[in-house]
Amino acid sequence: MSNRYSAIQAALQHREIAFELPKEKVSEYYARDVFTLQVMRDYLPFDVFEQITGSSAANEQIDKKLADLVAAAMKAWAISRGASHYTHWFLPLNGATAEKHDAFFTPIGANSSIEQFDGSQLIQQEPDASSLPSGGLRNTFEARGYSAWDPSSPAFIMDGTLCIPTIFIAYTGEALDYKTPLLKSLSLINDIGVEVCQMFDRNVEKVYPTLGWEQEYFLIDESLYFARPDLTLCGRTLCGHTPARGQQMEDHYFGSIPERVTAFMKEFEVAAWRLGIPVKTRHNEVAPNQFELAPVFEEANLAIDHNQLVMVVMQKVARKHRFRILFHEKPFDGVNGSGKHNNWSLATNTGKNLLSPGHTPKTNLLFLTFFINFIRAVSEYPGLIRAAIASAGNDHRLGANEAPPAIISVFIGKQLNSVLKDLEARVKDRKMTPDEKSELKLNIGKIPKIIIDNTDRNRTSPLAFTGNKFEFRAVGSSANCGPSVIVLNTIVADQLKQFKKQVDSLMEKNVEKDEAIFRILRKYIGESRHILFEGNNYSKEWIDEAASRGLPNIKNTPESLEEYIAGKTIRLFSQNNVLTEKELVARYEIRMETYAKVLQIESRVLADLAGNHIIPAAIRYQNLVMENVQRLKETLPEQLFNEHGAQQIHAITKISEHISHIRNNVSTMINARKDANKLEDSSKRAYAYCNRVKPLLEVIRYHIDKLEILVEDSMWPLPKYRELLFIK
Ligand code: ADP
Ligand code: MG
Repeated sequence: MSNRYSAIQAALQHREIAFELPKEKVSEYYARDVFTLQVMRDYLPFDVFEQITGSSAANEQIDKKLADLVAAAMKAWAISRGASHYTHWFLPLNGATAEKHDAFFTPIGANSSIEQFDGSQLIQQEPDASSLPSGGLRNTFEARGYSAWDPSSPAFIMDGTLCIPTIFIAYTGEALDYKTPLLKSLSLINDIGVEVCQMFDRNVEKVYPTLGWEQEYFLIDESLYFARPDLTLCGRTLCGHTPARGQQMEDHYFGSIPERVTAFMKEFEVAAWRLGIPVKTRHNEVAPNQFELAPVFEEANLAIDHNQLVMVVMQKVARKHRFRILFHEKPFDGVNGSGKHNNWSLATNTGKNLLSPGHTPKTNLLFLTFFINFIRAVSEYPGLIRAAIASAGNDHRLGANEAPPAIISVFIGKQLNSVLKDLEARVKDRKMTPDEKSELKLNIGKIPKIIIDNTDRNRTSPLAFTGNKFEFRAVGSSANCGPSVIVLNTIVADQLKQFKKQVDSLMEKNVEKDEAIFRILRKYIGESRHILFEGNNYSKEWIDEAASRGLPNIKNTPESLEEYIAGKTIRLFSQNNVLTEKELVARYEIRMETYAKVLQIESRVLADLAGNHIIPAAIRYQNLVMENVQRLKETLPEQLFNEHGAQQIHAITKISEHISHIRNNVSTMINARKDANKLEDSSKRAYAYCNRVKPLLEVIRYHIDKLEILVEDSMWPLPKYRELLFIK
């Protein structure tokens, strides 16, 4: 039996895995494995707890003495919950999570030991991180980097290890992770956000971004997954003919979730809840075998950690259920890919969502201020936003008529558009009367929330205002949310700084505050109109119109990454103290390198598939047909043979043609790869892979997919799309 058939057999045998749901209610075990504030309160003396969690604590460094107390509490709690090890848990720049586990156990003399964990181990660890990417920031042979505790994200226990969320930096101080600049961007937007809010409300003392992600993914049976080297090694299929039935029936989205899948979902939800991850929604997505999950939104730092953690937990639980998860942005050609929507907003200590239209004139002006500043920030940095989501995987998705195009624009809906038009037109060249102001402001207040939330939606826009938040939909499903959130935080904060300065300077000229705010907002509306688009973002017309508006449409990763080292970006990040020029260059290099590596692996795997799997199968089948032709010739009278043998001979010729195209292109691709590998410069190498290797992947795939429909089914070595996608 061929590998493929035995894989299919095995997949069909895989049944629902028994899993016992906890007897308790979710609320009883929610966050059980987390060192929460509640646990801290139980384990720490009251004054210490106050000192650590008090209002001033957030911005103050925690000293060694306090850290010792927290460490002792963490250790006691973790050991009581069965943990034996601890680790600093961080998010290095290759998008994974990294851990180095150390045992609490410490020998003290012969035959005796204690469990040890103190403040210095809590605050800092030196992981052996020589293999983690640093973009030249750290000499590899030195491998000096350290991780440092992030008290704003709680420690948790996973598989018997106490995991302490940390930042990861080089000894020279440069950030080697996503969390460091994220925390800086959070503090930046807090500072200016509070200043702006205080123009309206003196009670606001804290402003923080909230993030609600929506994670899409595919589930594939493990036997089928291992029968496809491309899935195993690249996370996506490099060939495969579109099945006779795909997603055109649109029945997956509305259909019920298969039992085996439900069992998996239930088990990982329990695991997520125990870790305090508030996952709430699960459903089928448009493509067969595609699903989505979404939590309740949280403070951005925590939400990002939770997204990374959930991806790890999902993989673990999937294995148990004999599935593999594909987080890749485009695992199957001709079938929808996966994204990760990032819902972003700003909240205050007073419980206000700054992007939620208010019910009074005063709160509406506050809303309009943040809303319009956000739009202007995007209009200033569309290229940088595109760069934040650039990856080899996402390149397959952006602009492929299923995901937003690579052109960044903002959708705000009819009602808010007319509010902006009103605001811009009515006050032109003259002061508004108080009546006009409140009428304008009330305009929004009168819109019941439900209408903004549900009806006026544009699913094709990369960045849509959805009632009380902006939904950034172009993020790739495998991406860390960090880069997108860092960019949004920083450009909005920078924009708010300008706004505050401009309003202040008008007020110094004795313009009344509301009037000053309106004037500046009006100016911004005019300046950022080109970024607003309400139509179909998937259409050809939009591509032309965007070009005429001067909006960038950058289709590939290497080109879009250039924005990271553009003068404007360097100024933005360094002036705001989020990332230095050196750090930006390092990030640019790491991402160029990653891009080239992904394509290098894909190209190797495809060459292997073509040479060792596809061509041999095609030849075997072709020999069968040739044998048949030979027999026909011997059996049939010449005239009949000429009549009926022609199609057979045609098939033989076709197979030969495809085989020879595959062989030629594979050898051209191998040479292109060798040339690319010789390039020392990581960006040049990325461009070479993008321009010379990537197009050949497509050509080779075309011929393989043609062979798939010519060759006898039982001889085809790889599970086909219909098997991968429809066997549950
Ligand atoms: P869909 O996009 O599938 O229609 P929704 O628009 O209901 O679904 O998206 C809900 C997502 O938006 C959830 O992930 C939720 O956590 C998030 N969300 C809701 N309010 C906010 C907010 N104020 N800040 C950030 N995210 C939010
Ligand atoms: Mg969404």
